[in-house]
Formats: sequence, C-alpha cells, structure tokens
Amino acid sequence: MARHTTFRFRLDPTVEQSVALARHVGAARFAYNQCLRLHLDAREHHRALIRRGADADTMDRARDAVPWSRFSLINALNRWKASEDAGRRFLVTGGGVTQVEVTGLAWRGEVLAEVLEEGAVDVSRGLAAWTASRSGKRTGPRVGHPRFKKKNHTAGSFRMRNRTRGNWSSIRVGTADCLRSVTLPKIGTLRVQEDTRRLRRMIANGRARILQATITRGVRRWWISITVEAAEVHPAIQHPARPAHDTTGWVGVDRGLHALVVAGTRDGTETLRVQAPKVLAVGLRQQRRLARAVSRKKRGSMGRRKATTRLARHHLRVRDTRQRFLHQVSNQLVKTHDRLVLEDLNITGIMSNRRLARAVGDAAWGELARQITYKQHWRNGQVVIADRWFPSSKTCSSCGHVKKVLSLRERTYTCGHCGLVRDRDLNAAANLAAWAEDHTRGEEVQDGDRQAAGPVINACRRDGTGPHTRVSETSPDDAGTPAQTAPAA
Ligand SMILES: [Zn+2]
Repeated sequence: MARHTTFRFRLDPTVEQSVALARHVGAARFAYNQCLRLHLDAREHHRALIRRGADADTMDRARDAVPWSRFSLINALNRWKASEDAGRRFLVTGGGVTQVEVTGLAWRGEVLAEVLEEGAVDVSRGLAAWTASRSGKRTGPRVGHPRFKKKNHTAGSFRMRNRTRGNWSSIRVGTADCLRSVTLPKIGTLRVQEDTRRLRRMIANGRARILQATITRGVRRWWISITVEAAEVHPAIQHPARPAHDTTGWVGVDRGLHALVVAGTRDGTETLRVQAPKVLAVGLRQQRRLARAVSRKKRGSMGRRKATTRLARHHLRVRDTRQRFLHQVSNQLVKTHDRLVLEDLNITGIMSNRRLARAVGDAAWGELARQITYKQHWRNGQVVIADRWFPSSKTCSSCGHVKKVLSLRERTYTCGHCGLVRDRDLNAAANLAAWAEDHTRGEEVQDGDRQAAGPVINACRRDGTGPHTRVSETSPDDAGTPAQTAPAA
C-alpha cells in the first residue's frame, strides 16, 4: 500500500455538533497561536540575554530552551496548559486566607488533546519551512515567518490522526443504523451527505487504511476530508508496461487558452479537445458586483458581514465547479493515454503578466498538471515535462521549421516552408509528442516517476524560477501572447 488519497464529504451536523466542531476549530487556532507565542517568547528571552551579556552557560541553556521541533512545541504547550499562566482560581479558606489554586487551561477537557497537538505540528512545519527558505534549502517562492491566526467565522479547520487497536479505529465511517455517517472521537457520529460506500468497502476489504481526518469550516458548511493509505489501483485499469526501448505512443497535451486541453499524437491526430467552462468569466460580473457590495458596507457592520459571506460563497461555488471539471478532464486523459507530454509552464512567470493571469487562473493549468501526474503514476503510466525552452507552438510539426514570430491571434499554424496548415493547438501538441519520442529512450523515462513525487508546479521551479521571474523568461509564445508588450504586474 503506497498510494495516499483523500475522500471528502460534506457534513450535516446537528446544532450541538456544530458547536462542538466550532469549539475544536477555535481550540486548534488557539493552540497554534499559543505555540507560536511560546516559541517567540523563548526566542526573545534568548535575545535579551545576549543583549545583557549573560554568561555563555545561561545563554546556551536559553537557546536550547527555544522550542522548534514538533515535540518540543508539544511539550512546551502541555507544560503551559497545566500552569498557572493558563488558568488559576482564588480560594478563600475558612480562616479568611486567600490561596491560589492552579487549574490550568479550563476548557482543555472539552476538546480532543490531539487537535491541540496538531497546532504545535503546524507551527513547527511553518518554522521549518521558513528557516529552509531563508537558508536557500527550499526551492520555490519565499516562505514567510508563521503568523498568528485571526478569528474567522467562515474559515478554519482542525485535524486528528486515526488511532487503531486491533480492529477498532478512532475514526470510523458508517454505523449500523446510518451508513452515511462518520464517527469521530469526542464529537460523536456526524451525518454526511454523500454516499460513503466506496470508502467503507475499501476499508472492509483491507484495501484502505484511514490515516487522518481534517474537518474544515466553510461558509455555513462543514466538510471532512479523510486521508487514507490505499492499495494500488486495480491492475485491470493500469496501463500495461511498454517493452524496453519503445519510444512511441507519446501524446502531447497542449494547454490552449481557447480550448483548455488539446491532445494529439506526433502525426497530428487529435485525441482529445476540451473546452474550458468559462466559470470564472461568467461568474466574474457577479463577483465584481458582490465585491463592490462588500466595499460599500461600513466596516464591522452586520451588512458587511453578510456581503462578505455572499462573496465567499460565490468563490466557493466557482472553485468547486472548476475542481470537478479538472478531475473529469484529467481522468479522461489518463484513462486513454499511457504516455503524456506536458509543457513545462513557468506558471509564476505567466501569472505575473496581468493580461494572461485571469485566463490561466481560470483554466487552472497547474492544478490539472498536478492531477494528471499523480493519476498517471497510479495507473503505471508516464508523464514527461517538455523542456521549458522548447518552442512547441512556433515549430512546424511536419518539417520542423521554427517561426520567428507567431501572434496569439493566429489560430491556425500555416507553414511557409512545407505548406502545412494545422490547428495551432494541435500543432503544438504534435510537437510535444515528437519531442518526447526524440528525448526519451525506453527505460530512461523515469522522469514521470520523479515528477509524480510532487506537484508539477514545483518541478517547474527546479531551475530557480520564483515569483520574481521576469515575463520575458518564458518564451513569449509559450505564454500565448506578445508578452513583451504587456505590462508586467
Ligand atoms: Zn513545415
């Protein structure tokens, strides 16, 4: 079992249960903030000693006392939880003497202790990412220092690990009298809206093991995401292995701005063409209207809160529709093709070009690439990312002639050398397919496996492209627009 996957259900809590869920979200935020506070205080204490010029021994002790790791943060939180700082009570005894009783954090018994611990885990991860980013050990955009979380009535989440003992597990899906339910420790059995059958079956057959659950609050909604370790996908739906030194069968996937995806083989046969739903474009007018409504309302007023809620719901709807659609497209692609070639899109570079940002964001190409990669990995298929500088759009897929300029308006590729006339996106897809056949040799296609290890977006950043990449670094044609003339954001 090596595959991790997530099942997401919409929760249908009772009023009491939503109160309990909200309390856990608050506790998770509190634990996170408190851990960060303890960490910062310890760091400040160490710095103060340096300023005061304390002796080396004291300074060393203070430095070692700064909690950085998850365990030291959990320990610091647990110590604090039971301390006088977290809670105390004044008692007046019979003789009129006042005594202080240390109670510790008063409400700690009302929430699952694990939820608090996960807050410490998040702080340690945030600190680790920040230090790695600062020392250059982490690629990608700069990671800032963890910040305190604010209260938010329409967001937040908490997480718990699954504990097992024999056949028993702390997180369970479905009960005898309600199959559409999830049982969580301390919170009880919550109804879910979707069918849980697939997950229940996988667990019953030993094909899946629950690792953890994350409960997320949205706008008047609750979700649960259950992460499981699952068995390999059924061999029947896996792609058969290619014989060694077989370099054929590659299908290029071009990201069009008119069509979201155009897939084609080297000889120019189109295997798939998908139009993007203009979710964002259609919803954009509505979004502007809702955003204007928010800014018109007085800060801190009830009306503003309502308007904010409306806007948040709109965003949620757009995101859900887009995500559903992307899963459909990536499924379609990996079901019918065992070898796919994607462009190495410098997404940050494109996103810094304002004119294009919306179109690319709408098409959500990065997310699609991520899905294609992991799904192909599950099915034993292959994915390679074409070289960033490969001019897939400007090259003639028949004779290989490379055009110097190709404007975005030219929807058809017409070759001045051999007279080829082919749809622009299909031409690019065919070039990608040809590139893969020429650049991979049978067993050498480990690229797909490597890429599958993480999101493709990270893979794109391997040569140090960050958010500050100039637009001109992407070939203007790959970006699909005369980039030099467009103002960089
Ligand atoms: Zn040509």
